[in-house]
Amino acid sequence: MNLGFGRSYLAIPGPSVVPDRVLRAMHRASPNIYGGALVEMAETIYPDLNAVARSSGKVAIYIGNGHAVWEASLSNILSRGDRVLVPATGNFGLGFAEAAQGLGADVSVIDFGRRAAIDMNRLEDALKRDRDHRIKAVLAVHTDTATSVRNDIAAMRGVLDALGHPALLVADCIASLACDRFEMDAWGADVMISASQKGLMMPPGLGFVWFNDRADAQHRNADLVTPYWNWTSRTDGGDFWRKFHGTPPAQQLYGLRESLDMILHEEGLENVWQRHHALASAMWAALEAWGQDGVIEMNIADPAIRSHAVTTVRIGADRGPALRRWVEENAGVTLGIGLGMATDEDPASDGVFRIAHMGHVNAHMVLGVLGVIDAGLKALGISHGSGAVERAAELIAGV
Ligand SMILES: *Cc1c(COP(=O)(O)O)cnc(C)c1O
Repeated sequence: MNLGFGRSYLAIPGPSVVPDRVLRAMHRASPNIYGGALVEMAETIYPDLNAVARSSGKVAIYIGNGHAVWEASLSNILSRGDRVLVPATGNFGLGFAEAAQGLGADVSVIDFGRRAAIDMNRLEDALKRDRDHRIKAVLAVHTDTATSVRNDIAAMRGVLDALGHPALLVADCIASLACDRFEMDAWGADVMISASQKGLMMPPGLGFVWFNDRADAQHRNADLVTPYWNWTSRTDGGDFWRKFHGTPPAQQLYGLRESLDMILHEEGLENVWQRHHALASAMWAALEAWGQDGVIEMNIADPAIRSHAVTTVRIGADRGPALRRWVEENAGVTLGIGLGMATDEDPASDGVFRIAHMGHVNAHMVLGVLGVIDAGLKALGISHGSGAVERAAELIAGV
């Protein structure tokens, strides 16, 4: 018998679940784009984007996904041949490095593997060797969505400052914004990028680049930027069309207005962070219980460096695809695939799956996902420790 009919749940780390009211806010005829209600509404989005990033700088909005803002951010601050340093902790750090390479930067990667956070001592050593300050930017992924490791952006600022190194600190918060605490000003990120389809609870289609005055000063001497990507015309208060360098994404802006209202003006950003922490903790408690017999294991052992938005799980290459298939076909839940976790024995990263708990997610969704994974483990005869869902329920009961 198939119990997968009913509402499906895409529990992958982006696109995340879009609230019905955000969908409804976008469901409208195209408005006048030259003036009036759309233009007035759009003005209210910029201060709220700064509030969600804890930034007092500027923010440019692009029609694009995460890959687009990788290039948007880099093209605004670099010149051809500039050196950048990328301490990578998974597939997305490596992807950011590739974007820099593709734009003509001279990229050095410090690869911390797939199960560890950025080590500040190794970062310090690499920056110390750069005596003549040829490195113009350090590119860091806050949460690497492939490994589910969370890096310490404030500590990276500390390393740069202690050495007096002037490189810009660029943070990719695509998977962490509005999920994990992030404080752009206080933590000293000069540039931060994010996109609409994760913690911001929107469909893919909008990308964002926040930048401070230091980054803007470097921008003025950088030569990679082209007119479309230039953040100046998008943020200098000129004509409305210049904010998007063309037709504005009108419906998407209405959706974003709604999601920012939910995050900032209804639940509150601190509460959003706490909810993600509580739900992540419940998820981890269940995974620990399942892992008692050793088959299931969280990719990141230390909870202090785990993302609160996504959890990467190791289960063995012969079991991962079967479990993902079972929960999708029999229970209506789609789990994330392994990304960039290939080994010689597991060339397709089959032994890894990911559970998203980002954005518009509450206790019943987390308990539901855990419950159907538990059912799948039983149906497939995959050995697992007992009491996992109960442990998660106990944690949620104690919140
Ligand atoms: C999702 C993600 C990206 C890529 O975003 P796309 O919209 O798929 O291009 C980049 N970095 C991180 C950390 C992400 O989570």
